[in-house]
Amino acid sequence: MKTYCHAPWVPEELEPILDVAYNFWWNTDPQARLLFHQLSPGLWRLSNHNPVALLRRMTRDELIAASARLEIRSELFQVHDRMRRTLEAGSRVKVERVRRGENDFHYDREPRAAYFSAEFGLHESLPNYSGGLGVLAGDHIRSASDLGVPIIGIGLLYRFGYFHQSFSLDNWQEERFSPNGAHNQPIQQVIADDGQPLTIELNLPGRKLKVQVWCARIGRSTLLLLDTYMHENWQEDRDITARLYDADREIRLKQEIVLGVGGVRALEALGINPYRFHMNEGHSAFLVLERCASLMKRKGLGFEQARLETRRNNVFTTHTPVSAGHEVFRRELMEPYFVPQVERLGLSPDEFFELGHRTGTDHDGNFEMTSLAIRFADHINGVSKLHGEVSRRQWQCMWPELPEDRVPIGHVTNGIHTGAWIGPEMRQVFDHYLASNWLDRIEDRAMWERVESIPADDLWEARRRQRARLIYNVRRRAQHQLIVRNLDRDTLQRKTSGLDRDALTIGFARRFATYKRATLLFRHADRLRRLVGSDDRPVQILFAGKAHPADDAGKRLLQEVQELALDPGFRGRIILLEDYDIGLARKLVQGCDVWLNNPRPPKEASGTSGMKVCPNGGLTCSTRDGWWVEGESPLNGWTIGRGWTDRDDETVDAEDADSLMNLLENEIVPLFYDRDAAGLPQGWITRMRASIKTVTPYFSTQRMVREYAEKYYS
Ligand SMILES: *Cc1c(COP(=O)(O)O)cnc(C)c1O
Repeated sequence: MKTYCHAPWVPEELEPILDVAYNFWWNTDPQARLLFHQLSPGLWRLSNHNPVALLRRMTRDELIAASARLEIRSELFQVHDRMRRTLEAGSRVKVERVRRGENDFHYDREPRAAYFSAEFGLHESLPNYSGGLGVLAGDHIRSASDLGVPIIGIGLLYRFGYFHQSFSLDNWQEERFSPNGAHNQPIQQVIADDGQPLTIELNLPGRKLKVQVWCARIGRSTLLLLDTYMHENWQEDRDITARLYDADREIRLKQEIVLGVGGVRALEALGINPYRFHMNEGHSAFLVLERCASLMKRKGLGFEQARLETRRNNVFTTHTPVSAGHEVFRRELMEPYFVPQVERLGLSPDEFFELGHRTGTDHDGNFEMTSLAIRFADHINGVSKLHGEVSRRQWQCMWPELPEDRVPIGHVTNGIHTGAWIGPEMRQVFDHYLASNWLDRIEDRAMWERVESIPADDLWEARRRQRARLIYNVRRRAQHQLIVRNLDRDTLQRKTSGLDRDALTIGFARRFATYKRATLLFRHADRLRRLVGSDDRPVQILFAGKAHPADDAGKRLLQEVQELALDPGFRGRIILLEDYDIGLARKLVQGCDVWLNNPRPPKEASGTSGMKVCPNGGLTCSTRDGWWVEGESPLNGWTIGRGWTDRDDETVDAEDADSLMNLLENEIVPLFYDRDAAGLPQGWITRMRASIKTVTPYFSTQRMVREYAEKYYS
């Protein structure tokens, strides 16, 4: 594959920095992060930790001055050398150099699995995600690289990504879309042999759509991103890939055609012939139709034969039991796009639309992407044990002849890429007391037993430092938020002086979907005021998260949190941090002592934010839902309420709210402040150890990708 790289100019001595800047490997290397930071701390922050934007913003003189600094050159040498050694280990191909202009892009091995996802969340510098689904896809690709599982990701390049969040004076979420500028992102453009951008073509009603392709390097893995922003396209078509999860149904339909159909054609154009097509959620399900039509043409097969044959290679992962999470399109909307194409499949329009209907259920003219994916995939899974169960019940209708427990939907429990989420202090402690290569041995439970021998004061010191860094950042962000709201200096001081680097810090950060119940804590506002406002045992609570622009119920929850946060009774110890993204998530999961997760069971398919907290020494407080059903064990956290029952929502909410307050008042706060003579909370540290060693080895994408590879990719 050939690419064109619009890399910034750098002096010759610094040229290897481009190899690092254009490979997302650097996110998982603390020294690489430090290197970019040192080049220009201010610009590094301003460019949202985007190395390409940083280098472009630095002046020629600044770059030359940097290249003259011995420590920068030596750090660059070390980082580059480590990157090369890591990526070339066990591989036949050398890491290629990234230069301004044309580059050659080699595969380690021919990708065996193509992983399709509407969002990929790798790092804040490529804002191509909205939440957990995207972050999971990013971590999946990363771990595939670590394990040497040859995989290629397929997604869309959103020119505006997802929105930036701020609040109006009446605390209503405001959404701001700003262009990312493809050339400022750590991606390269795929070009054809003639040196021109590689383009693929799709049929839209009355016109052709051209799509260009970008690629990102994630260690040894590759991610292709499709982009319709080309001058040859109609204005409205250029904007197909403008925004992630556009609320306009027709744009969404076109996005999913680009992702599914365009993705398959892009692979063909590049001569890549994957053995498995993995649909990460239903957004990419149109790919099954393209594969089917292509096989019919190539081999002269009938539709049913081609369906059965292509089905063997399709993997479908469903991600939510919540109905709003299952993509549905109206038949009238789809007709102009699909009816002219149905003859390729040898189907009548009615037969075609049947493919998106649940068997034996009233569909009301709706076409469901999940039904389509299920009909065309031999390998289907949910993302936790509980979610597997819930999905078998939910989709049993597709196999009317089978009892629920025989429905062929399995589960592969989600995980996280530990190296991307671990804080530097905890990492150092593990380097020292577990093994220098502990990240490569994540699943080695015997190694994790050594956590018991880490001295309490070392563990606690790492925890304190990570919390202190979080509080420092929160204070700065909160001040900025308040300045935007025109507060005077004194008020500002008062509202951010409530934060304390040694106080028990609770985090709640995720999308503001209603089933996640962000305001459950506030049902007992008086009890919460007493708890949070305590003089000798203070508690601080940090919230963050976005509501989908069309989700007014989610925005009302945000408004409620924002108003309560400004309530003087909480003494500035409850803060809603604006504009949640991966960067903020990293700070929160590294710094919080307790991670609160209280979705209404069984709505949370898995959840992953809590998994990021545990290796950092934070403790989970969760309802019995998603991953926590498998994760909980004596002493590694706290469980709220009774889990999945068939009582009504109001009863469950009331019970869970009470249970949560009881845990906080009677167990969590007292344990955190119960100190020995040396000031160490020994009981708490015991739980930290239990949490680190029980959660980390299993809830990692290393285990998850290995499971996908063994079960579905081989
Ligand atoms: C991990 C992560 C999520 C997922 O959070 P859940 O609690 O699992 O919903 C969402 N957004 C960001 C930015 C994340 O890093």
